[in-house]
Amino acid sequence: MLEHSARIVDGIIDAPIGLKVTADATSVEEVAVGIGVIESFSNVIIFNTDDGLTLFDVSHAMSAKSVVSKLREWSSDRVNTAVYTHGHTDHVGGAGAFNADATERSHQAINYVAHEAVVDRFDRYKLTNGYNGYINMRQFRLPGPMFPSDFVYPDTTFRSETTLNIGGRTFELHHARGETDDHTWAWVPDSQAVCVGDLFIWQFPNAGNPQKVQRFAWEWAVALRAMAAKQPELMLPAHGMAIGGKDRVGQVLTDTAAALESLHEQTLAFMNSGARLDDVIHQVRLPKELADKPFLKPTYDEPEFVVRNLWRLYGGWYDGNPANLKPATEVALATEMAALAGGADVLAIRAEELANAGDFRLACHLIEMAATATPDSQRIHEIRATIYTERRKIETSFMATGIYRSAALDSKARINELS
Ligand SMILES: [Zn+2]
Repeated sequence: MLEHSARIVDGIIDAPIGLKVTADATSVEEVAVGIGVIESFSNVIIFNTDDGLTLFDVSHAMSAKSVVSKLREWSSDRVNTAVYTHGHTDHVGGAGAFNADATERSHQAINYVAHEAVVDRFDRYKLTNGYNGYINMRQFRLPGPMFPSDFVYPDTTFRSETTLNIGGRTFELHHARGETDDHTWAWVPDSQAVCVGDLFIWQFPNAGNPQKVQRFAWEWAVALRAMAAKQPELMLPAHGMAIGGKDRVGQVLTDTAAALESLHEQTLAFMNSGARLDDVIHQVRLPKELADKPFLKPTYDEPEFVVRNLWRLYGGWYDGNPANLKPATEVALATEMAALAGGADVLAIRAEELANAGDFRLACHLIEMAATATPDSQRIHEIRATIYTERRKIETSFMATGIYRSAALDSKARINELS
C-alpha cells in the first residue's frame, strides 16, 4: 500500500478516481509494526496495544460485517477503544457489528470516543432523517431515500484535545472543524503516525458539498498545517491508502492546506470588496499547480462548491441580486419567460442548441424554465433528460453528477407517467 501510494503522490502513476463505496473489506494490511489498515467504505485503522486494540472508525453498517471478519483474521484481541474521527454514517455505522462481535466473544464493552459535537450530529440526524435520505439518494445513487436512525453514541467525549493512554500507547486527539464540525485527528508519537479522518481523501477536499451542512475550509487548512508541523512519517486517512515518508506526507498535507487557503483568501477578497455571489463563483479559481496535484482532483467535491460554502459561512443567504431577495415563484417566472419567448418549446429548443454547443450552464437554466412552465410536455422532458445525461458526462465531481443524474431520472419518470 505504501509503495503504491508513494507512486501516486510522486506522480509516477495516476490516482484512483473516486472513493471506494463497497460492502467488502480488504484484509488487514500492516503498514507499520502493530498498525493495520482495513480498506472499505471508510477504512478502519487498527493499533495493537498491550490492552487490546484501538480503532479509528468502525466503517459503514453495510461494510462492518466484512470489516469485523477481516479484523478477526488478524487478531483475536478485544477492541478496547474505538475513536470516531467524525460522525458521518460511513465512519460510525459499523459500531453495531463491533458490539455484536464483543458480546459474542464475551469481551468487555468497547469504549467509543469522539468529539462532543458528534452527539449533536446524531441528534440532528434524527431531526433531518427524511432530508438526509433524499440527499443521500441523489449523492450516492440509491434506489430510494434511506438514512439510518439508530446510532451508537460515544461513551467518552472531549472538546478541544485529549490524550488516551491505552496498553502502553499514547494517542493525542485533536478537535478540528473542517469537513465537519466534529472532526478528530490523532497524533500517535510512538510511530510518528497521524490519523486524519476525512481531512484528506485522495481528491479535492469535501469542503463544499452542496446538499449538506456547513463546512469549514479555513479551519481545515489550519488542522492540516498543525498535522504537518508534527512531521509525520505515516499518514492514515479514513478513505484510500495510507501514505508513508516524512517528505511525502508533509507535501500532501501542505498542498491540500494551500488549496483551501487559496480559495478562502480569494473568496474573502471578493466578499470584502462588496461582490455578489455570482462574481465570486465565476471568478475564484484554484491555482493550476495545485489543481494539477494527483490527490486534489475535483472528483468528489469541487472548488466552486467550496466557494459557495465560504459565502454561506461568512455571509448571509442573500446573494446580492435584489430580485432573489423575495423572488416570484419559479412557475410564475418560467411561465412569463415562456410567454415572452413564444412558448416553452422555444426555450427547450434553445436549451438543446446551447447544450449541443457545450454551454450547459445556460442550457440548464432554459430547460428548467421550459419544464417548469409546461410540466406536462413529454417532448420537453425528453430534451431535459438528454441535457442532464450529457451534462453528467462532462462534470467531474460525484456531487454534481449525482444531482444531474437524479434530474435526468426525474424527467425519464415523468415521460413514463405522460406516455
Ligand atoms: Zn467519510
